[in-house]
Amino acid sequence: MPSVTRTHHADVVVTSPFPITCIFPVEVLDQIMSWAVTDELEFPSIAGFSLASYQFRQIALRQYFVRLYAHSKESWYKLCQIPGIYTWVRELDCLSSAILSDLSHLFHFTNLQYVHIDLSPEGFHTQRTCVRKILKCLPADLIALELTYLPKLDVDLLHRIAKSFPRLVYLKLTCAERLINDCCWGCYEESSSCTIHSPIPDNFVDADDLTYAFGIALKPLHDLQFLHLGIYLSDLDLFYYHILHSQMEPVRPAKRVWPHAPNECTHCRDTFSEEVRTTELYASAAIARFLPSIKSVTWSSFFTLNEPGDCPENQTTTMWVQRKDKKVKVRRAAW
Ligand SMILES: [Zn+2]
Ligand SMILES: [Zn+2]
Repeated sequence: MPSVTRTHHADVVVTSPFPITCIFPVEVLDQIMSWAVTDELEFPSIAGFSLASYQFRQIALRQYFVRLYAHSKESWYKLCQIPGIYTWVRELDCLSSAILSDLSHLFHFTNLQYVHIDLSPEGFHTQRTCVRKILKCLPADLIALELTYLPKLDVDLLHRIAKSFPRLVYLKLTCAERLINDCCWGCYEESSSCTIHSPIPDNFVDADDLTYAFGIALKPLHDLQFLHLGIYLSDLDLFYYHILHSQMEPVRPAKRVWPHAPNECTHCRDTFSEEVRTTELYASAAIARFLPSIKSVTWSSFFTLNEPGDCPENQTTTMWVQRKDKKVKVRRAAW
C-alpha cells in the first residue's frame, strides 16, 4: 500500500512496497489538480484525493476554489467562511444581490483576475450605487470584467471602470439579454422599458456620438484587447416599429412562435439589415481608434448573418481589428 509523507521542503514523498521512492514537487501536483478540476466537477469527485493528507487537501481546495460561484446570499456567506478561500480565488462569478448582502468579504479577495457580476436584480435606480459599491472592493489589477443584465450602459459606467481597472484586457458589459422573448408580446415590450438596449437616438444622436463618448471614456484602457458592448446600434424606433407591424399581421401559429425579434422578421431584415450592419462595422472602427491594443469589438445585433463574427443564437456580431500604417481596418472575420 503506498503511503504519503511530507518532507521539510513541503514536497510530497510517495513510498510504495516496491523499491522506488517518488518525490513529487508540490507544484507538479498543483498543476495536475488544476487539469483535473474542471468547471463541471462537483467537490465529491475530488473528495478522496483531498482526504489523503493535509497537504493533498490544501492542494485540492486551492485548485477547486480557483473559481468561486456565488449566486445566493447563503452560498456567498458560507463560502466566505472557508479558511484560506480569500487567497485561492482567481475567478468570481456572482449575482449582485448575493455579494451586496455582505460586501465586507469581497475586499479580501486580493488575487482576483476575472470577475463576472450578474446584475439582473438591479434596476435603473439601483445600478449606479450597486456598481460603485462593488467596484470599490475589487483589486485594481483586474484583467477581465463582465457585468451582465445591466439596466443601462452609459458613459459614467465606462469611465468608472476605466479609472478603477487600468490593466483590463477583457471587458464585457451587456444589457440586451434583459429583453424577454420567451413569453408574449406584452412581456417583450414591457421588458424593453426596463433596459436601455438601443441607446440611439434617445441617449446618443447616432453611432458617431456614441462611439466618441464611449471611446473617450475607455481611452485609459491601453491594454484592452477584447471589448463586448451588449447594446443594439439600430435605432430604438426600429424595435417599436417591428413590434407594431408584427402584431398587426395575421397570426400564423403553424409557422412560428410569438413574439419574435426583428432578426426573424423578413420585412425588417430587408428594410434595415444592410444599414445596421454597416453602422456596426463603422462603430467598431471608430471605437478602436481610442484603444491601441484592441483586437475585437462585439455588439448586440438584430441582424446577424452567416459571417464568422456573427452569432445568431446570442444576437451578437463581432468585428476583428487590424492596424496597419496607422490605419484601422475592421471586418467580421479574424485577420
Ligand atoms: Zn408574457
Ligand atoms: Zn419587423
